[in-house]
Amino acid sequence: MNDTIKLYRGEVFDFTDSPLDRSDAFRYFPDGALVVKEGIIIDCGPFKELEDRYAGCERIDYSGKLIMPGFIDSHIHYPQAEIIGMYGKQLLEWLNDYTFPAEQAFSSPEHAERIARFFVQELFRNGTTTCMAYATVHAASVNALFSVASEYNMCMMTGKVLMDRNAPDGLTDTAVRGEVESRSLIEAWHKKGRNRYVITPRFAISCSNEQLKAAGRLHEQYPDTYIQTHLSENKEEICNTLSLCPGCRDYLEVYERAGLVTDRSVFGHCIHLSDSECRRLAEAGSVIAHCPTSNLFLGSGLYDMRQANRIGMQTTLATDVGAGTSYSLLRTMGESYKVQQLNGYPMSVLESFYKCTLGAAKALHLEDETGSFEKGRKADFIVLDYAATPSQQIRREYLERNGKWELENKLFGLQTLGDDRNIVATYIMGKRM
Ligand SMILES: [Zn+2]
Repeated sequence: MNDTIKLYRGEVFDFTDSPLDRSDAFRYFPDGALVVKEGIIIDCGPFKELEDRYAGCERIDYSGKLIMPGFIDSHIHYPQAEIIGMYGKQLLEWLNDYTFPAEQAFSSPEHAERIARFFVQELFRNGTTTCMAYATVHAASVNALFSVASEYNMCMMTGKVLMDRNAPDGLTDTAVRGEVESRSLIEAWHKKGRNRYVITPRFAISCSNEQLKAAGRLHEQYPDTYIQTHLSENKEEICNTLSLCPGCRDYLEVYERAGLVTDRSVFGHCIHLSDSECRRLAEAGSVIAHCPTSNLFLGSGLYDMRQANRIGMQTTLATDVGAGTSYSLLRTMGESYKVQQLNGYPMSVLESFYKCTLGAAKALHLEDETGSFEKGRKADFIVLDYAATPSQQIRREYLERNGKWELENKLFGLQTLGDDRNIVATYIMGKRM
């Protein structure tokens, strides 16, 4: 019996709730087991309790390593894979000088396929099992990413970028064409397998009011699609937006007028919001994707996590590659900690891990599918080595010697010193990538 069941032994950790709401919001089994049947989690608990119950099934031993849900990256641009780490510009120049030229190549399906494959494999190498990604204006870029993700049964959320102004000719559509193409991509991909369609007006500077309204109409017609865009990333961007939309009292209102501020909307950055904008985002149940490596790299500013938490805004952590400088959500958590330190908020390691796993799954309405080890969830999980480098190893030995080799110190070491080198294995629906 049990030959389709696999038991993974190791240190098992997941969240059951938000650590901001309760101190016992997580499960941690130092000698634990995760049990998977046909890609689905069927059990999780102490190894001693589960070893008899699943006697005879295949065992995979990751003792001493951490088994946790895969990371969810809620804001990333796959067509920017080639232009990561380009020197010296702030947002608007960076888009014109680096991003737009790179995105033009995605009119070629072959190029899109090649970069999509690189991108998905790079996510796996970094322990990311779900992402919400921007494609480009070209339908081919969306087809490529959904196709590649489908080969791996990965939960992929993406959509065609809408841009009908302030971009080079090869990268613009029109309000009508953007709507027509988005609709046919929704029909082709949304909820096919694990794919989800994300209606993607890039940001207000590159979308006319007609285009934003068309995006809102599409979401109304397909209410279980998602919306992603950028909001209040950079001060020059905010000034330009308000001069392009003279009737609006603030940036958020541009999106509100188009029906784009919903509980399925993910706004990248949100660094320079007014109190009123924060409250309206919280009331709408919208999600803010905080992208610390990008915000530091482009000099955009410091997101105020404490204020967001106080007002009740849902925040997730995200990489924003290619302005973000790493695919690793470990690195991203480490940088988020530093950004919050500059704000006088030493964010807890549990809060940051939550915002890359169950917190992100809940924010994206995926908690019935991924983000934790609840029974019935898809087996999207990762295995981490706490001490993949000499520096991590000597830190570990010090903590062990002093009786402090405990969960929060372990996680904080991963967050501060960790990266792709700490990812031992990435599983999607129980299959090792
Ligand atoms: Zn972005």
